[in-house]
Amino acid sequence: MDVVTATLERHFGFSRFRPGQREVVDAILDGRPVVGVMPTGAGKSLCYQLPALLLDGVTVVVSPLIALMKDQVDSLRERGIAAAYLNSTLDMGEQRQVLDDAANGRIKLLYVSPERFRFQGAWAAMQRLPISLFAIDEAHCISHWGHDFRPDYQNLGRVARELGVPRVAAFTATATPQVRFDIVRSLELSDPMVTVAGFLRDNLHLAVLPIRRMKEKPRYAREIIEKAGGPAVVYCATRKNCEEAALELGRAGIETVVYHGGLDDEARTAAQDAFATRDDLVIVATNAFGMGVDKPNVRAVVHWDVPGSIDAYYQEAGRAGRDGKPAWCTLLFTYADTRVQEFFIDNGGENLPPAARTARAESERQKLRAMVRYAYEEECRHAAILRYFGDRVLGCDPESEDGASCDNCKPQAGLDGVKVTSPAAARDAAREPEPRCDPRRLDEDEEIIVQKVLSAVARAHGRLSSRIIARVLKGSRSREVLKDPLAASKSYGLLSTMSEAALVGLLGALGRDGCTTGRYPMLTDRGKEAMWRKLQLELDVPPFGERTKPARGAATTPPAELSAEAEDLFRQLKQARFNAAKERGVAPFVIASNRLLEQLATLEPDASRDDWLRVKGVGEINVDPLREVFLPVLQGA
Ligand code: ADP
Ligand code: MG
Ligand code: ZN
Repeated sequence: MDVVTATLERHFGFSRFRPGQREVVDAILDGRPVVGVMPTGAGKSLCYQLPALLLDGVTVVVSPLIALMKDQVDSLRERGIAAAYLNSTLDMGEQRQVLDDAANGRIKLLYVSPERFRFQGAWAAMQRLPISLFAIDEAHCISHWGHDFRPDYQNLGRVARELGVPRVAAFTATATPQVRFDIVRSLELSDPMVTVAGFLRDNLHLAVLPIRRMKEKPRYAREIIEKAGGPAVVYCATRKNCEEAALELGRAGIETVVYHGGLDDEARTAAQDAFATRDDLVIVATNAFGMGVDKPNVRAVVHWDVPGSIDAYYQEAGRAGRDGKPAWCTLLFTYADTRVQEFFIDNGGENLPPAARTARAESERQKLRAMVRYAYEEECRHAAILRYFGDRVLGCDPESEDGASCDNCKPQAGLDGVKVTSPAAARDAAREPEPRCDPRRLDEDEEIIVQKVLSAVARAHGRLSSRIIARVLKGSRSREVLKDPLAASKSYGLLSTMSEAALVGLLGALGRDGCTTGRYPMLTDRGKEAMWRKLQLELDVPPFGERTKPARGAATTPPAELSAEAEDLFRQLKQARFNAAKERGVAPFVIASNRLLEQLATLEPDASRDDWLRVKGVGEINVDPLREVFLPVLQGA
């Protein structure tokens, strides 16, 4: 065993490092400047405490919270580690004693408040200390972009330089690039190792539910809260929404207390106490609720409205499942709710000053856009959040039974039976109604296709939505498809000439017929018989086939299927739509529906405006913006 691991065990009693810790410790020991970005509770202290024990001399730890300094020092002393602190709670004599002990090698870790360096006596004494490591905790206090800027932190670069410390390490839970940049610049770190780690909360199930009618919010919230079965927090953007949400939830039979900045202290304390002591209560709150609240067994955090940033979302959602047991974090999302956040950016919010017209407002708009992208994310939500923070962890592992889960990777995880649809399914349902007809006998070719589809359903074992199964059959190269074992099976690309819409429609019909069951379909006995072609099916879908069929009907009716070339064009149009949506910070369907893209891919209107106006779904209002986005694609094709 190496000396670092041995120290971890002997002095701290831990058998292994948490994510990020080991590499930070090694870098510090190597003498490289370090910025460690890890969320609260991830174990930042150990990253400097352990090297402190292995290095000669004393480690000076700058910490802004005098109250926490004493706790830290006490817990180190309990572990037999020589530690002390230097702050305004000590009198002159005590301070001198501490500095004396440090100078004489009797202290390994010296905690100092940032103001101490201003005092001549302490400064002179510190210049004589054999400092081996200068560690700065809560380093975001350096930055104006952080939430608690401390002027004294801005001197720490100069302090480190003038003390001539050989190693500097800074730690924070704030992961925004601006803050990170300010830390590196202000501390004058050259070639620092920046480690972002520990952001994965693998007991949380992350989900987003698209809201089409406001009535759905209380209904969904109730289902989630009841299913999660424990204390829950419902976060709202405004005080008014809190009151409304509490009322609606009350009507739905859920007992709530309300907490927001508009209540007097007494009411807030009462709400907080009730929530702290009872396990059958839902607290409906603005972001004013959170600081200092630490109920470990919160089982669900529901966001009634979209928050202003992923940072805010993850902090609030992260209050679920502190005990490490599964918990559910669900955002009820409708794009209209972003207007409240826009309003906050312009006018200030519950805990926010107005951002004015400044660089700050632009940065907050960007954060809001990132939040909206999260809501529309089609791949792993954990991965999306970790990517946002710059953490390297991949996200959900579809192979593992427990661990991180999200609605895009493991739709069924945990909250089985909640009737609310997954966002992808709801979006698709809203966008592309499946064509139906009276039940009809299938022809031979169609039966073979059904056989292939049912065998894919069998292989999916209830893991995948119809849409994903359809994509596997089409041979899609999207990540969510490729990461599933089904993509490595014979089903992959087996029906590549059929359209995804036709396959999804067929899967729907097979469900209605009783061959499959569930939104993440599994084969029934009837389905097995159909798969072996032991029975003659009658399905309520229009004719479908593996070969490309000429578009039927007039130009204004959408083709049921696209030819291979049109499929290709359709994909390019989707890409253009995605780019345009990203550029404007809106959802793709705001730019154009899939239906419309199918039309464009099939009809390929030329450059003339009139030709475009003949396409169903194109009118005077949208013709110009549509041409701007999509004409280049059609002309390139
Ligand atoms: P942070 O400063 O990042 O918020 P702390 O340093 O206060 O987090 O650590 C949070 C908790 O995690 C502490 O109780 C600490 O003892 C514990 N901890 C730290 N590292 C490990 C580890 N490698 N294994 C187990 N527990 C750890
Ligand atoms: Mg800490
Ligand atoms: Zn995921």
